[in-house]
Amino acid sequence: MSGFLTREERRRLKPAETAAFPGPIPTQIVSSDEYLPEPQTRAQREVEARLKAFGAKMARRLGITRRDFFKTSAGMAAAFVAMNEVYGALFDATAAEASTPELADERAAALGDQFIFDCHTHFLRDDTRLVAFARMRAAVGEAGWNPQLGTRPQTLEDLKFNNYYKELYLDSDTKVALISSAPSDIARDWFLTNDMMAAARERVNRAAGSRRMLAHAVFTPGQPQWLEKLDHALTLRPDSMKGYTIGDNTHKDLSRYPWLMDDEKVTYPGYERFDRAGVRIVCVHKGLFPPSVEKQFPRLRPYVDVHDVGKAARDWPQFNFVIYHSGYRHTGSVHAPDVAMAQLERTGRVEWVNDLAEIPGKYGVSNVYGDLGQLFAYSIVSHPRLAAFMMGTLIKGLGVDHVVWGTDALWTGSPQWQIEGLRRLEIPEDMQRRHGFAPLGPADGPVKRAIFGGNSARLYHYPAHVGPWRADRFAAHKQQYLAAGQSRSNLRYGYVAV
Ligand SMILES: [Zn+2]
Repeated sequence: MSGFLTREERRRLKPAETAAFPGPIPTQIVSSDEYLPEPQTRAQREVEARLKAFGAKMARRLGITRRDFFKTSAGMAAAFVAMNEVYGALFDATAAEASTPELADERAAALGDQFIFDCHTHFLRDDTRLVAFARMRAAVGEAGWNPQLGTRPQTLEDLKFNNYYKELYLDSDTKVALISSAPSDIARDWFLTNDMMAAARERVNRAAGSRRMLAHAVFTPGQPQWLEKLDHALTLRPDSMKGYTIGDNTHKDLSRYPWLMDDEKVTYPGYERFDRAGVRIVCVHKGLFPPSVEKQFPRLRPYVDVHDVGKAARDWPQFNFVIYHSGYRHTGSVHAPDVAMAQLERTGRVEWVNDLAEIPGKYGVSNVYGDLGQLFAYSIVSHPRLAAFMMGTLIKGLGVDHVVWGTDALWTGSPQWQIEGLRRLEIPEDMQRRHGFAPLGPADGPVKRAIFGGNSARLYHYPAHVGPWRADRFAAHKQQYLAAGQSRSNLRYGYVAV
């Protein structure tokens, strides 16, 4: 939610709700306005064409609409089959599953109980004012492109709590979510204040009757009175802390207080307070700063890569540092995914994911973790091989017990398509051999179990083995919801290139 898209750029966008082909997984990148989405590639067009043809055939056979077919588990499988046909066999999905709804439903039901802990989620405060996302939606409504926006001017509600509940806890297999935020130099423009996050956690867990939500508190090194504010935040008993070294990510033009993780003078006094309060997990937003954004805000460039992670991790062994987005950079220009892919082919590296993965080896530390927010959503669709490479890189460098599941929902709609993506993704054999990557294995195998939830359960002392989510009020509601024939919404909130 940075708002760096120009009006010209915004004019070239259409609302994803109407423009994108409503398949079970997006065939175009969905933008959260943190970057400009890529125009659909030839390969993506190919996937879409195959999927449409297959969907039409299945819909006729089942006597339902194509749109309804894509809401089924078989429809979800069909998308991965189509991607396999275009990109090579990267996904565990068969034509049999895609064309046999019973088979697909059985698989979905068998995996439905899987423990999924999403350590990176957002909704917006009720009194949020014109953040970029709201401005974009309003402009689209005014332009009359989207009838839904036009007749329902409060579309921003879809990015607030009620829809968060629906898309996270009902429409996806997510069991536990950590609510995050982003700070701003303008107090009113925080996604959520620290008090709001703590209140949301309280509200959700009381409603559920079990611990379904954990909460960040945001810290802002260098801002006036930041240590006093931090003292207050710590009284809220956050499950972990979250910081943005870029300073104000929402208003990059205004950002006055960028900071570094290893700045002894500015940042360490905050760490001392974390330590005294018993905080053990420090989450830091890194990456999502493509060359096009660097050109606009060169003064922020020193703060967005991961060069400051290693020393901080070495100096503070009592903390686990979770690097959000794993430092993934290439999201900004129209050629970004191709740039990342070309960079990978040319150098065998992806900025700044490889740099992050090298930190344990370089600094002799074992307290650095990688989150998959945006990194996964972005690559799994545009370049599945890039997604496979980054998964292999992070697991090899940080350890399979140091990669954690985060989706940055709700910016890209319900996270179920990302969950299915990782369940089915495998690193191609040639890539495994070339880079020494271990296979990811089956959907419910040890590697994916660890990434989806085991690692965060360990970090946050969550009793996943007890499974408190199975018998709470959210579980009962979800059962009713599914029994009532509610189907997954394939809407994604964002914009796609025209
Ligand atoms: Zn985020």
